[in-house]
Amino acid sequence: MTSCIFCRIVNGEVPAEVVAREPEVVAFLDVQPLADGHVLVVPRAHVAAVEELEPVAADALFRATRRLSGPVRDALGAAGTTIGINNGAATGQTIPHVHVHIVPRWADDGAGSIHTIFPRKTRRSLPDVGAAIRRVIG
Ligand code: AMP
Ligand code: ZN
Repeated sequence: MTSCIFCRIVNGEVPAEVVAREPEVVAFLDVQPLADGHVLVVPRAHVAAVEELEPVAADALFRATRRLSGPVRDALGAAGTTIGINNGAATGQTIPHVHVHIVPRWADDGAGSIHTIFPRKTRRSLPDVGAAIRRVIG
């Protein structure tokens, strides 16, 4: 039996408030929601990081995120959604099974944009960084 809690939810071994079950993806409510309607979208196949997703799983994950974001927003009467992935333990990822957070948002909810989580500590120029990334892409 796997110890991964999200695999166990995917397999139906652990209860969750499931909102969508699809061949490649399962979506359920976060048990400690940041806002009403906070949904997690997870691939059925266990991988820790986005980089490890098979292309088919990656496609399905983003397609499901796209498909669910409108209904999640509308079901809660929200104005938008913040969509994000903590990708790696250093980023705050606590469950090492890839998951997309969809969090309903309202103009007056007191939360910030993705930009507000970063203190903007940059040291390198854009051309330098761009060249470094292009070199690794090959
Ligand atoms: P992250 O920090 O991106 O790894 O987020 C993991 C999320 O999973 C947190 O927001 C938790 O509240 C949520 N979570 C942990 N266990 C469960 C569970 N059994 N059912 C639903 N959500 C969970
Ligand atoms: Zn897992």
